[in-house]
Amino acid sequence: MDKFAVVYHEGIAEYDFGEEYSLRGDRFPRYLKLLQSEGILARPDVSLLTPQPADDSDLALVHTSQYIERVNEIAERRGLLSDDTPLTPSIVKAVRLIVGAALMAGEQVAEKRVKMAQGVGGGLHHAGRDYGEAWCVFNDVAVCARAMTERHGMSRVLILDTDAHAGNGTMDIFYTDPKVLYLTVHQDPNTIYPYTGFVDQIGEGEGEGYTINVPLPKEADDRCMGLVLERVFRPIVRQFRPQVIIRNGGADPHYQDELAELGLSYQGLWSIGRAVSEAANEVGCGVVDLLCGGYNPGYEEKGLYALLCGELDLALPFHEDSPNPARDTSVFSQTEAVIDGLSEALKGYWKIEKFEETRKD
Ligand SMILES: [Zn+2]
Repeated sequence: MDKFAVVYHEGIAEYDFGEEYSLRGDRFPRYLKLLQSEGILARPDVSLLTPQPADDSDLALVHTSQYIERVNEIAERRGLLSDDTPLTPSIVKAVRLIVGAALMAGEQVAEKRVKMAQGVGGGLHHAGRDYGEAWCVFNDVAVCARAMTERHGMSRVLILDTDAHAGNGTMDIFYTDPKVLYLTVHQDPNTIYPYTGFVDQIGEGEGEGYTINVPLPKEADDRCMGLVLERVFRPIVRQFRPQVIIRNGGADPHYQDELAELGLSYQGLWSIGRAVSEAANEVGCGVVDLLCGGYNPGYEEKGLYALLCGELDLALPFHEDSPNPARDTSVFSQTEAVIDGLSEALKGYWKIEKFEETRKD
């Protein structure tokens, strides 16, 4: 197995928004426990590292100083950052550890100490330069990507976001930046928060062509995700030739998720991890994996672990807990149509083969 580092701090369990909210901090220790019980942490090629909290200069890679101050001020008075995101000093302390973990995972990969590093707790992709929402206070994914270009001298960073929700914060931050290609696969934003992330949003100015949104129909299943990985992600990697792939997104594409309505199984999550590893090997780059999401109380860690198993090419040690209820049989042809639309929207930048053309042959 390639060298792999897990970056984890027990303090991230404090990234917990309380009983009224779906993002609770207990998932993180549960995930680590699963890594322990499956023997991952005992493997000779695996190291467990403890991050430092990100400081203001780290956060300033992406966020404005006014925003960082505003977060501190709201946390002190235990107020609301947005309607759905209450802040406390302990939440802010924990998010600095999460960003610190993403930075450390990135550094491990950039300095080629490991082939892949995982920052546990990350993927806070709804935070933008000067805003935070949906339980995302600071955007660890964006800070990690910026550190790659500003501190590690990279000029081609690929972010693959496979969370069920589009990463509006990450998209905003890199919308005009050609050094960071943001490829996000998510549930159709006509049907779910954040209501943005459409095929025709492809970036602006120098960044035009470097934002790729793949909205999947509700109930899209493993086959649909497989199609996107094979027909969009892999060709983009071959053409862009990233120096690092940063993947983020947790377990919420799974059909048991209570917030999203995609239809992936654990095996589908596994195949995301596998495609990322294979693509990285093909172009000889490392992988940073930032994972957090998933709203299936008590089971989120299994989805996170399925992603990891794919990345490490290990068999899944568990089965589904219940049958997949997804019923819509047109999801596959709808996904083909989305890819045809992408091919058209991005034709000045990337070659994505159309299904129409394949069918004509
Ligand atoms: Zn999500």
